[in-house]
Amino acid sequence: MRKTIMIYGAGAAGLLAAMKLCRDHEVIVVDKERNIGQKLLIAGKGGLNITNHAEIQDLLPKYIPEGFLDESLRENDTLAFRSWLEQNGIPTYTGSSGKVFPEKGNNSKSILQNFKKKLQAAGVEFRMKSRFAGFNTELKPQIETKGVDESAEADYHIFALGGASWPQTGSDGSWLEQFRNAGFAILPLEASNCGVNIQWPESISRFHTGKPLKNISISFKDKSSKGEAVLTETGLEGYALYPLIPLIREGLNKNETVIIELDLKPNSSVEQLKLKLSGKNIKPQKYAEALNLNPLQMALAKALTSKETYLNSLEFAAAIKKLPLKIESLRPIEEAISSVGGLAVTELNSDFSLVRNPNLFAIGEMTNWDAPTGGFLLQACYSMACRVSRAIEERNQ
Ligand SMILES: Cc1cc2nc3c(=O)[nH]c(=O)nc-3n(C[C@H](O)[C@H](O)[C@H](O)COP(=O)(O)OP(=O)(O)OC[C@H]3O[C@@H](n4cnc5c(N)ncnc54)[C@H](O)[C@@H]3O)c2cc1C
Repeated sequence: MRKTIMIYGAGAAGLLAAMKLCRDHEVIVVDKERNIGQKLLIAGKGGLNITNHAEIQDLLPKYIPEGFLDESLRENDTLAFRSWLEQNGIPTYTGSSGKVFPEKGNNSKSILQNFKKKLQAAGVEFRMKSRFAGFNTELKPQIETKGVDESAEADYHIFALGGASWPQTGSDGSWLEQFRNAGFAILPLEASNCGVNIQWPESISRFHTGKPLKNISISFKDKSSKGEAVLTETGLEGYALYPLIPLIREGLNKNETVIIELDLKPNSSVEQLKLKLSGKNIKPQKYAEALNLNPLQMALAKALTSKETYLNSLEFAAAIKKLPLKIESLRPIEEAISSVGGLAVTELNSDFSLVRNPNLFAIGEMTNWDAPTGGFLLQACYSMACRVSRAIEERNQ
């Protein structure tokens, strides 16, 4: 039976849910901005990494909290997403490190146009510049358009209001207060997949900011991550760092001293490096050549080791595999790729309906899960949208 479904938020999760539901139901998409999918547009600036090549056993551990998304990801994994995209005229290919991108000729803009065309053809109504404005006392969603409030009339309501990174895209977390006022458990939105603040010594900040550190590994506690990072004026930013952010955030929130370790030679063991330096009475001037270290790596190694270590070649060889970097704080949420926090997972049933009213659902970044970049964020949006779509179908049988 055809039902009326109101979707709040025309971002990745909301549009994917609309795509899944529009054929069989009346779908109305509400967004406070003028245009749909603004964060997706930003995400596509450097090439839209839409999902990942990871198979299920490697996919599930990417997400925290453990287990929260498992059912939805198992039902609609990376292959399912790619095949659905293909059916919708968006073929994909696997790039470096398992990241999956739309084939040439498809970018964020064309994907949004593709979705909009299909949604409009299916009769989906877009109510742009309309805002989810809270709940009434019966937990009915309220919409505000041009200063006029109304109760949203629908059989099902899907919230996909996003997190709070890049607020200029519309995802500003303004819904948090309305959910909190209605008695929902809410966690503050915090930066994820973001840079960190580090107080560089002058020898680094004066000469080396803006430079990339390629093929490094960064470790914190029991986790390490390989890849690239860029030295910024305020600290460090980049893919090698992002998977460690949840642990770093946790440490900072507990007021712990957070010191990450930088390995400049992750593909060589300490013994191998020592071998390159031993027996040759090598002086520091020759380290760069002997160990193939570029000027930035040498500057970091010098700045972050004691004089004694720097002068002792064997100690130096060991030290460049764990240079200590003290993290002062995370970069602001406004600059982050994603955020964590929002609606507590305890408020949600396994099909992402709200425990307090199963005709209301919440999906995407507004719910409290986290994942590193690499296509895992959009994959979760898709898997969650599919799970909600199935839940609605099942209730209609
Ligand atoms: C720079 C950058 C690069 C990224 N790159 C990638 C990538 O390569 N791969 C990847 O997987 N992910 C990437 N992401 C993350 C990805 O874009 C997000 O995880 C994803 O868009 C989240 O989807 P969402 O639908 O939950 O929220 P959003 O896409 O943020 O959508 C939320 C929508 O809700 C609307 N809204 C908010 N409040 C209200 C309200 N009160 N009333 C009505 N509407 C409201 C907003 O206007 C917005 O349209 C990137 C993000 C950024 C910022």
